[in-house]
Amino acid sequence: MVQLAPASLSADVVVVGGGPAGINAAIAAGRGGAKTVLVERYGFLGGMSTAALVYPWMTFHTADGKQVIKGIAQEIIDRLMAMNASPGHMRDTVGFTSTITPYHPEVYKVLVSKMLKEAGVQLLLHSFVDSVTMNGAGDTIESVQLTSKSGRIELRGRVFIDTSGDADIAYLSGATCLKGREGDHRTQPMTMKFRMRGVDLAAVKQYMIDHPDEFYRKTPHAELPDLPLSGICGFYKHWKEANLPINRDQVLFFTGPNEDEVLVNTTRVQGLDGTRVEDLTEAEELGREQVLLVADFMTRNLPGFEKASISQVGAQIGIRESRRIDGQYALTGEDVIAGRRFADAIARSGYPIDIHDPSGKGVTSADVQGDGAYDIPYRCLLPKQVGNLLAAGRCISTTHEALATTRLTPSCMATGQAAGSAAAIAVRQGIGPQAVDVSELQTTLRRDGVVLD
Ligand SMILES: Cc1cc2nc3c(=O)[nH]c(=O)nc-3n(C[C@H](O)[C@H](O)[C@H](O)COP(=O)(O)OP(=O)(O)OC[C@H]3O[C@@H](n4cnc5c(N)ncnc54)[C@H](O)[C@@H]3O)c2cc1C
Repeated sequence: MVQLAPASLSADVVVVGGGPAGINAAIAAGRGGAKTVLVERYGFLGGMSTAALVYPWMTFHTADGKQVIKGIAQEIIDRLMAMNASPGHMRDTVGFTSTITPYHPEVYKVLVSKMLKEAGVQLLLHSFVDSVTMNGAGDTIESVQLTSKSGRIELRGRVFIDTSGDADIAYLSGATCLKGREGDHRTQPMTMKFRMRGVDLAAVKQYMIDHPDEFYRKTPHAELPDLPLSGICGFYKHWKEANLPINRDQVLFFTGPNEDEVLVNTTRVQGLDGTRVEDLTEAEELGREQVLLVADFMTRNLPGFEKASISQVGAQIGIRESRRIDGQYALTGEDVIAGRRFADAIARSGYPIDIHDPSGKGVTSADVQGDGAYDIPYRCLLPKQVGNLLAAGRCISTTHEALATTRLTPSCMATGQAAGSAAAIAVRQGIGPQAVDVSELQTTLRRDGVVLD
């Protein structure tokens, strides 16, 4: 029998999960001078953006158009634009937000890999973290263990950042984690996304102009003729008549990245848990069956889709919600709606609450009041029990309602940058993330382009 030899590595900052939060966290930590390793289970970066085809990114702005997410997130957009791989922020023709941001996923993968190298970050792809070693007192992570093609690797670190989306590191370290809504703990549904090419988008747009009642009420109908079509939500009549076995009440798709292409966000798998392998298996199977049903419905019924066909399906089903940390503060739906300000803000966001119903057909939404953005406090990144762990992205500490906005990609990028900067400060000063002086962190973030005011 051949046994692969175990190896060991060490770093100042260990970031687990190479999605939007982990990428930005690792870049920030690396730029902050910390020896940083980023671990990702797949053979590419991007998380849900690339593995599950999440597209476009939304939103960097408030409803009235003020940009509240900048920093590394905006740098990524600027560099994508320079590579002709994003048009930048565009008006949202669905009308749910003021702007959306399309991007080319294949260029994004390459760009962020380059940005990580520039920041001095060591990247380990094809590496799945499946256990954690704690110190004797059980309050500090000493190392994470990962499984790779070349065997088991022990990765020691001083500060760990959980950007796994599923709070895997917090969970494996024994910290309390939460899941889903209060009461039944059901989470938002999963969606298998897919792309179609050969779409006549001019015909789609003309149909929208001629039939405004069949589309989402906030669609900017009067301005449509002059706007490039970025997405649609509706086709209510066609969808209802088709009566497909999918518990959803509308068709949703976005245009791009190619001129005749759309990304379809319409399948819906409910009642399964994104952290249980049996449920994930069932979700992948159901999601792929639904893709075929929806694509067939679209080509048969929707104007502009007569010659369209599937060009890509997600490598994995998209998981909107799973485990999250139980942190020092849990951001609530009320905080979001009030546009609440916090003294320890490390990021802001203007994305509304957007809950795809865990059991029903619809989507529940609520707009952000105040100046149109809410603050995300530093305490939401800090788990209650583990001293040298930060979380960022989808698994920060919130309620089910607030997660329905903090989970969006630009917000995940922003909390990622904050976690990476905090980790670098902690390493430099030889302290834990909980002891980081928040005003020093805020000064660093502002210097690095983050909007906190
Ligand atoms: C169906 C759907 C539609 C969405 N629509 C939009 C949208 O239109 N616009 C928008 O901006 N956002 C949208 N989102 C939200 C957004 O895509 C995610 O919430 C966001 O990607 C979360 O970022 P993250 O970095 O926290 O986690 P993820 O993107 O989930 O990244 C986590 C990374 O960690 C890796 N990982 C996980 N566990 C381990 C482990 N144990 N070891 C090693 N690696 C691990 C994963 O492979 C992954 O790369 C949508 C999400 C879904 C699911």
